[in-house]
Amino acid sequence: MQKANKNTLNITDKIKSQLSQDIQTILDVCGKAADLYGFKIFLIGGIVRDLFLEKESFDIDITVEGNATDFCHKLVDSKLCKILQVNSDLKTVKVQFPNNIEIDFASTRQEFYPRRGHLPVVVRIGCTLEEDVYRRDFTINSLAVSLNKKTFGNVIDYVGGIDDIKHKKLKILHDNSFNEDPSRIIRGLKFAARFSFHRDEHTKELQEKYQNTQLHKDISWSRIKSEIKQSFSLENHKIFDMFLANNVEKLLYAQKPDVKGLEIKTLIDNHKAEIDFPWLVYLGCILNDKEIIEAFCFTRQEKKIFTDKDILLSANLSMINSNYDIYKFFEKRTLESVLIYYLLTKRKEALIYIEKLSKIRVELNGEELKEMGLTDGKQIGEMLDKILRKKLNGNVINKADEINFVKTQIK
Ligand code: ATP
Ligand code: MG
Repeated sequence: MQKANKNTLNITDKIKSQLSQDIQTILDVCGKAADLYGFKIFLIGGIVRDLFLEKESFDIDITVEGNATDFCHKLVDSKLCKILQVNSDLKTVKVQFPNNIEIDFASTRQEFYPRRGHLPVVVRIGCTLEEDVYRRDFTINSLAVSLNKKTFGNVIDYVGGIDDIKHKKLKILHDNSFNEDPSRIIRGLKFAARFSFHRDEHTKELQEKYQNTQLHKDISWSRIKSEIKQSFSLENHKIFDMFLANNVEKLLYAQKPDVKGLEIKTLIDNHKAEIDFPWLVYLGCILNDKEIIEAFCFTRQEKKIFTDKDILLSANLSMINSNYDIYKFFEKRTLESVLIYYLLTKRKEALIYIEKLSKIRVELNGEELKEMGLTDGKQIGEMLDKILRKKLNGNVINKADEINFVKTQIK
């Protein structure tokens, strides 16, 4: 790393060694356009943190000191990219460069939280970079790198982010941070697990204070949902354990379940091909408050997992004796809900269903039964059920066995 002057750190070498040639070209071109049209632009947030950590970034964010929409239109006029999406309130723009490289451009902005825990309102677009930085979550996510030619690669660190990255420390920017946006609690734990960082003592205290005394339900849950989804989609079971060790269940108005992340991950891994929503298996082990489930605004499919889980948990299993009974008990439930049910109750019937019974199918179909002499729909339905019963109990194995069985029944 070279020093631009006594106090400025320059990370051009990191940009050159870690970002692809395509991205470097884009940054270079954007910097030149910014010079030409009189804008100051910066790499910001996660991408800068990841350059320091030498980790690949999920996405690239550029901040324009001023109005990003104006800047992006200049890029389009110069035929450098096309605009995919504009948020006209926030003045953010998603842009596509050659080779399908997408970059998010944001305008510097100041935000204000009129109601704690609710989405902020933008008070000023086009503030200074320094003012923009103070709306962010952690010091490590508040670094910027200049892309203008003369200052290319210079790091701007208003909040001590470089030191905190060095010391693997997660620190919020001000004491009201979790009150403003409790999804930062989830973000902090997600980053801690992803990078093996620890939260600094004061950040921890403020998090505990929020969870113990300032918790309230009237917040915007969409960001919490999004952060939880991202966290549990990382396929890192330690995040689940870390959530529970840090009482995240309190945030969701739930009790701590007696389940370990590794148990969940192992079960999911064994059924990967059949599961549509792995992240909901993790969340389903925690979330049970009806109001919060509503507030999460799940899609119909996602919601069914929680409805099914409730149905299973409230049912009485004392009448269940045969494989057929087990099959019928779980048959209409989403696999995710059966996994959650097993993880929470450890009932062996759920495992028998998941591992064995759910895979059993009757191979004969209605048409074939008609050809064998069955006439009305009711008869056919009953026969399919009889075959299923036999198969579940292991008496009928393959299609030939099914045909033989039907013949004995018809006689
Ligand atoms: P990732 O690698 O997961 O994308 P990231 O830090 O880039 O991590 P993003 O969700 O892409 O996270 O957000 C980009 C930047 O926006 C963050 O680095 C941070 O500066 C800011 N940010 C995101 N979410 C919040 C939030 N809830 N509160 C304050 N600032 C946030
Ligand atoms: Mg990001």
